[in-house]
Amino acid sequence: MRIVSGMRPTGKLHLGHYFGVIKNWVQLQKEHETYFFIADWHALTTGYKDVRALQSNVKELMVDWIALGLDPSKGVLFIQSRVKEHAELHLLFSMITPKSWLEWNPTYKDLKYNLLRLQDLSLQIKGALRDLVKEFLGMLPYKITDFERLEERLLDDLSESLIAGIFEGELEPDILRSLNVSKRDFYETDTYGFLGYPVLQAADILAYKGEGVPVGEDQLPHIELTREIARRFNHLYGEVFPEPKALLTETPKVPGTDGRKMSKSYNNAIYFADSKEEVEQKIMKMFTDPQKLRKNDPGRPDLCAVFTYHKLFTKDKEKVEEIRKDCEAGKLGCVECKRTLLKDLEEFLSPFRERRKKAESKADEIMDIFIEGSRKAQEKAKETLSQVREAMNLG
Ligand code: SF4
Repeated sequence: MRIVSGMRPTGKLHLGHYFGVIKNWVQLQKEHETYFFIADWHALTTGYKDVRALQSNVKELMVDWIALGLDPSKGVLFIQSRVKEHAELHLLFSMITPKSWLEWNPTYKDLKYNLLRLQDLSLQIKGALRDLVKEFLGMLPYKITDFERLEERLLDDLSESLIAGIFEGELEPDILRSLNVSKRDFYETDTYGFLGYPVLQAADILAYKGEGVPVGEDQLPHIELTREIARRFNHLYGEVFPEPKALLTETPKVPGTDGRKMSKSYNNAIYFADSKEEVEQKIMKMFTDPQKLRKNDPGRPDLCAVFTYHKLFTKDKEKVEEIRKDCEAGKLGCVECKRTLLKDLEEFLSPFRERRKKAESKADEIMDIFIEGSRKAQEKAKETLSQVREAMNLG
């Protein structure tokens, strides 16, 4: 089976990425023909306002992929923006994709809803600051020719800065919990690129006539859309594309150090690039069962992220059961429990860390791997696009 999947370059990879995606990809590379790409164009659908870190994020991802076991001799590893055929196919698919298919995409609907919540917050902030801004403008030693416009401009800027401050951790983040919106919701706006990104995903997959796409449950609607686009194209112009299947994989959930989902934006992630000392600091600060304050308080390991880590990283399963029993019986303290975890976690992390260091020192070679992969990918995508052009009578 030909398998295609991509990952946005958003920075260094953490344990959640490994267990959620990469571990599965490494396995798929052994059994199938695979095309894995760094989705740098997709990074722009939500992160277009600030592109300063884009290139360094691409480089970090290349290093992480190689260090974590993706192998260019087993499958094609490439960078999306180096294969311009994705863009051409995206354009052609845009012509045949009804707008309503995209507007019903749950991610898009969520975004629209969350943007409304942010607008509400912005109005509240402006309401609270209006008098202060008026007073401030009244004290300026300059003649103001358009008071209202300047007042609005200042209120817009202040509201935007304050909301950014909440997302960047400069202000009490409690408000986010009640709002239930993400940093992404704030930084992106309602753009054509965001509405159309499932069409770009369809192009990413179908440029290689991908037959299987490893996904999580939340991505299922996108794969369905890819299948619908393939069906519509084949119906209109003749059979060119397969209908790719979603390969749902059960992956263990890796909580962040605060027990929430592991994510860069929650600042709760353990990275493969972290030093031993950094990992130690993060583990020792990890949230545990809040009811277990002292060693002899009985704990609830199933509510504790440290215990989830034990289940993932402690090879000796009898030892894991012992930890469970001792925690429940109040015979094990959290500090000792974390120290035990650290040993097992280090055993898991240190080979990756070593490989990462090696890969980092060979940045040029790694770049060459991805340039060569992009060339191979482009060869394949060109074949598909020439069939597409012929089918659409584009000459
Ligand atoms: S003893 Fe271990 S498993 Fe139990 S609450 Fe403390 S850290 Fe969690």
